Amino acid sequence: MANPSKVKTFNIQAAVLRTGSPLKIESLELEGPNDDEILVRIVASGICHTDIGFVDGWDGTANPVVLGHEGAGVVEQIGKHVKGVKRGDHVVLSYQSCGRCRACRRGHPFDCEYFWEANFGFHRLDGSNALHRSGVRGHFFGQSSFATHALATERNLVKVPKSLPLELLAPMGCGLQTGAGTVINSLKVRKGKGIAIFGTGAVGLAAVMAARVVGADPIIGVDIKPIRLKLARELGATHIIDNRRHDIASHITRITGSGIDYVLDTTGDQEMFEITIRTLNRKGILALLAGNESAGSLSEGRKVISVIQGDAVPQRFIPNLIRLYQTGRFPFDRLVKFYNFSKINTAIADAKSGETIKPVLRISKE
Ligand SMILES: [Zn+2]
Ligand SMILES: [Zn+2]
Repeated sequence: MANPSKVKTFNIQAAVLRTGSPLKIESLELEGPNDDEILVRIVASGICHTDIGFVDGWDGTANPVVLGHEGAGVVEQIGKHVKGVKRGDHVVLSYQSCGRCRACRRGHPFDCEYFWEANFGFHRLDGSNALHRSGVRGHFFGQSSFATHALATERNLVKVPKSLPLELLAPMGCGLQTGAGTVINSLKVRKGKGIAIFGTGAVGLAAVMAARVVGADPIIGVDIKPIRLKLARELGATHIIDNRRHDIASHITRITGSGIDYVLDTTGDQEMFEITIRTLNRKGILALLAGNESAGSLSEGRKVISVIQGDAVPQRFIPNLIRLYQTGRFPFDRLVKFYNFSKINTAIADAKSGETIKPVLRISKE
């Protein structure tokens, strides 16, 4: 630990989650950066359903927190052990990992043994908290990006080209990586194989675009919201099913003539799980993304896998997604709607109602 008298502090603005009230932008004191940290001025942050889950489920038994885990911004200061970035670099922030456990050493940070603590612990892995002077907890996903500034490390930061607007790249760090990574890295969907995607929000639509990139056929989008289904169709779904009006299982059978090779479920709904089991081909794989299920084997070689962050190493995968975007093959800009930081509660409400697929907060000028 640094000598407390020498610790630098910054005044920042952050959206704070307290009990019984909407998020409120407050002035806080942020300490840092530590030797292995980077102080990033946040230009924009996506809002993801994990943030919303915390807002809705906050019971107030713990101190207030700063959420946000799809930050993008400009490097403002670096700790003395930081080698890979310099002041002025443009960066996208992603999930955090420890860097020391067996999975991290094998190059699989998405399987980090300390994943929960590093991303949902609201403190650094050494237990310290850079917002403690304000009585607030940060470090959500190693960032807490609903703020004008965030501390990251080289493990959860990705340098990005300056030729693209940072505000557009913000959602790369979680939702888009998760959807596309599940198709490309976890399921390894190949050309000509069929995939059904349950839930066509930001994660599901990223999966649709990735399925088109790898040449999957058919690509079946399932949702209850006509606007999202229309977008799924435009982004690469060969078929869409409105499951409020149609039976999913019989539709999939009609489309494929048999069953489906892969299912990606973003809904976590038990009913969807049962439908999947009935429609999956022999040796087919179901990928669960809602986070609370367990993996396992089913009859006739079918498998269920539970995927975290699309099995993606951000420093490799996000640049790949950016290249796909630049060549017109991953048009994720179609999902994004921008909001001023002060409208964070409106942005969350629009995401919950389904009116906006991927809200992105504009926090400071690039
Ligand atoms: Zn680890
Ligand atoms: Zn997320």
